[in-house]
Amino acid sequence: MAEKNMPSGRFVPPEEIQRQQQFTAACRRLLRDRFGGEHTLLALVHSYGCQQNTADGERLMGMLAEMGFGFTETPADADLILYNTCAVRENAEVKVFGNVGELSHLKKRRPEMLIGLCGCMVQQAHIAGKIKKSYPQVDFLFGTHSLHQFPEILADCLERDHRVFRIDESDGVIAEGLPVRRTPGVRASLPIMYGCNNFCTYCVVPLVRGRERSRRPEDVLREAREIAAQGYREITLLGQNVNSYGNDLGAEASFPRLLREVAEIPGDFWVRFMSSHPKDCTRELIDTIAECEKVCSHIYLPVQSGSNRILRLMNRHYTVEWYKELIAYARERIPGVMFTTDLIVGFPGETEEDFLQTLALVKEVKFASLYTFIYSKREGTAAARMDDPIPREEKSRWFSMLLDTQRKIGAEHYRNYVGKTFRVLCDGKSPLGLTGRTEFNAVIDFPGEEPLIGRFLEVEVVRAEKHDLTGEIRRAL
Ligand code: SAM
Ligand code: SF4
Repeated sequence: MAEKNMPSGRFVPPEEIQRQQQFTAACRRLLRDRFGGEHTLLALVHSYGCQQNTADGERLMGMLAEMGFGFTETPADADLILYNTCAVRENAEVKVFGNVGELSHLKKRRPEMLIGLCGCMVQQAHIAGKIKKSYPQVDFLFGTHSLHQFPEILADCLERDHRVFRIDESDGVIAEGLPVRRTPGVRASLPIMYGCNNFCTYCVVPLVRGRERSRRPEDVLREAREIAAQGYREITLLGQNVNSYGNDLGAEASFPRLLREVAEIPGDFWVRFMSSHPKDCTRELIDTIAECEKVCSHIYLPVQSGSNRILRLMNRHYTVEWYKELIAYARERIPGVMFTTDLIVGFPGETEEDFLQTLALVKEVKFASLYTFIYSKREGTAAARMDDPIPREEKSRWFSMLLDTQRKIGAEHYRNYVGKTFRVLCDGKSPLGLTGRTEFNAVIDFPGEEPLIGRFLEVEVVRAEKHDLTGEIRRAL
């Protein structure tokens, strides 16, 4: 692979990762001093927000496991609580403040316990300042660019028994070789890149996660092989805009190529990816999905708005016509392909007419599912400086109309599934016996026995209700 354009400074040097391992060893010793050698250490790590954050959380849990921690989901049982925060919308931040506030009584009861915050929300200086001043129960805090230095931060906090706040200003780094403790189950996430260069005017991500940077294909493929060998049945490749994967790696790297290489790894698993920015979604990518059997026929293609005027104000660099052409091409090339999208309602200056165009797009495309959000003003973004005269009640009314419309479309999809047989990944138990998901994430419950969990099955949909699909197994694959 040509690496001449690769900005090597973005990769954390292996010596630095080794230095952090020494801090991991120091943490083991300091934790024994703090809690006693006989004590079974338990940590609670909660990641808010997107899958990228969950993937970071798995790396933090990997580091904690190497320090000797087991894991709990009960705050009262935890010796260390780490909230990996999200900044995308205000309500995510409000939730974190509420949850951290609730920990003060635990900290009073057990002052030796440790409370930490990390992730996108605390990368913002005004938030870190507020935590430092008003939340004395927080022992340590670090931003997105310091994730790989967590052992050093915790060791400092333990050794000197003081609060540590670490927010680095940086374009971002790539840290390979961190331990990972993947969530058990059938699905695994695999970050292929970090950061974002797109600066959509509403979005805080480029401000808190730094510039776009791609992992080397060999590192991604090594991790994908590891995930497949561990028996996971679905791998989701993650990036804020996977379509620009490799732009910083030289001419040979591209997302379609990487996707194909992941899909060529031997084993029985599905491959998904998110997010795919429509402006960079190419016919080559659609052809790759069509040609690779393991890649799900489900494209998550966030459109955000059905109005060209609003898309321009959002700095999205595509039109509704471009978006519809992509959908039409994909439908031509990939039989049965389904789409999921993100929509923002009530962007500053949006009119009822703009909103009705979004509604019309939703009715036309008939998405498998929608992620809908009411616009949330984010400090530091361009949209935060735009006039936003639409009353909250109006935004809520539009939001309900959108949900209502999608509910009807969802019910129509469900009715059409009856009598059809789908490949389903069985992922757990249900009151009927088992449950699983199709390639396009529709949930089907069906009778069956537990050993089938983790298997691909052919399931025929025999009944559809408003929110539920019932099926029968036709064949185990
Ligand atoms: N990189 C992805 C993309 O461009 O599609 C999106 C990542 S963002 C974490 C997930 C979704 O949150 C976006 O697609 C958008 O719909 C929503 N979002 C981002 N900023 C928002 C804001 N300020 N208010 C409401 N929703 C927002
Ligand atoms: Fe945010 Fe836009 Fe980047 Fe997605 S592409 S993370 S919405 S700035």
